[in-house]
Amino acid sequence: MTDRQRPAGKPGWLRRRLPSGPEYERLRRLLQGRGLTTVCQEAQCPNQFECYAGGTATFMILGRRCSRNCGFCAVGHGPDGPPDPEEPALVAQAVEEMGLRYAVVTSVTRDDLADGGASFFAATIRAIKERMPATLVEVLIPDLQGDWTGLLEILRAGPDVLNHNIETVPRLYPVVRPGALYSRSLDLLRQVKRIAPEIPAKSGIMLGLGESSEELFATLDDLLAVGCDILTLGQYLQPSPAHLPVERFVPPEEFQSLQAKALARGFAGVAAGPFVRSSYQAEDLYRQAVERQSEKPEQTDNATAYAGCKDL
Ligand code: SF4
Repeated sequence: MTDRQRPAGKPGWLRRRLPSGPEYERLRRLLQGRGLTTVCQEAQCPNQFECYAGGTATFMILGRRCSRNCGFCAVGHGPDGPPDPEEPALVAQAVEEMGLRYAVVTSVTRDDLADGGASFFAATIRAIKERMPATLVEVLIPDLQGDWTGLLEILRAGPDVLNHNIETVPRLYPVVRPGALYSRSLDLLRQVKRIAPEIPAKSGIMLGLGESSEELFATLDDLLAVGCDILTLGQYLQPSPAHLPVERFVPPEEFQSLQAKALARGFAGVAAGPFVRSSYQAEDLYRQAVERQSEKPEQTDNATAYAGCKDL
């Protein structure tokens, strides 16, 4: 798409004031005081206040610099130091002080670490569960370069939701997620359902990067075929002129129609909207998924449904 055809500015429905106020400041200082990073703040997420008020926040562990360089991501890139061994306990402490009912833990991708950071995810889940047994923990993990022993270690720590974003359709991977493989990300979700079928698997897609409707639905079907339970669909927003351009702003009504179609296709929980991000309304989606899973008849064997992907 040429610059002339690309949307000029943000449409009205994407204008939202960023959070502020005493409660927001209190939380910001609390996190800063512990040297902790939330994706909420790093990405300047417009939903921060709504999520904090709803008892949810997303912590970023394993440093602030990523080994990869995805075309849509504002996170810093390049080598980073060894992870802070105190981090799991610090995150658990902040979860307690923030009184979170639902904590999301994510990270940059650390291909430089032997286990991709899997042991830190496991330790953080355990630390939160020990300190706040009633708090639900969702982990949004990188693809661990396909090392499923790391995935097993994370699942054994007992997260309530395992999230891994597929982000976009396979045709766009070379520009959007150059260091990732579409089939590897699908396989990660498939392994979650094979190893721990009781743990809801979740994934998310950003729209507006140039995907067609046919490509989007083909990706939804791929996710369903590997047993993905929960889906988020949100609008890609360009973090800076150095990042991929927005090819299209998807109107709210189209997101609503996509939400209905994705639920009808078989996802147990779906959040779709211009401001939807991976952890948006995460607790509600989890409860939706658990409820619908309890109604669902036994799932088919995923192995046969997955035979298609070639470049593993
Ligand atoms: S792997 Fe994740 S953190 Fe790293 S650049 Fe890509 S999206 Fe950003």
